[in-house]
Amino acid sequence: MAASDLINLSGLMDDAKCFAMVREHRWPEGVRCPFCNSSAVIRDGCDDTQPHRQRYRCKACAGRFDDLTGTVLAGHHQPLRVWVLCLYFMGLNLSNRQIASELGLDGSDVQIMTEQLRRGLVAKVPAVELTGEVEIDEVYVVAGHKGQPAAVAKRGGLDGAASWQARRAAARWKRTSRRSSA
Ligand SMILES: [Zn+2]
Repeated sequence: MAASDLINLSGLMDDAKCFAMVREHRWPEGVRCPFCNSSAVIRDGCDDTQPHRQRYRCKACAGRFDDLTGTVLAGHHQPLRVWVLCLYFMGLNLSNRQIASELGLDGSDVQIMTEQLRRGLVAKVPAVELTGEVEIDEVYVVAGHKGQPAAVAKRGGLDGAASWQARRAAARWKRTSRRSSA
């Protein structure tokens, strides 16, 4: 497929849904402050140039943030829908070169994007060692999580939530890498 076809595809993508996807991914139980992890967060308008990028204010620490704050998607010149397409192509096991060609981007840009995406969406969470225990942890956390998010949050606290996200990101990365080596 020619790059120009995909640029059209990117143009057809719904920005509102792309931002909704990021919100659901990083805050499955509702928005939390990336600075203090409080859920006492109120909406605070939208980004000046990206109308679907929701801004928030934390009532606990008065911090201000938006949908992309603290993610690898913040501060990049590519629109969110290009990142979403890149993520989609990674899921299809396309090489960096193929993704670059499909998106009409530079190979080196795509390499940086895919490296960052493999580390997880939330950049501030440190990468964890990829060991055989990663998936076991994920299963345990998800199983315990189901129906009892409050109990899990109480037990894990801030550190627990952060490490849970890291484990989940690592497990996802591991699945992706395993698929590509199969
Ligand atoms: Zn806060």
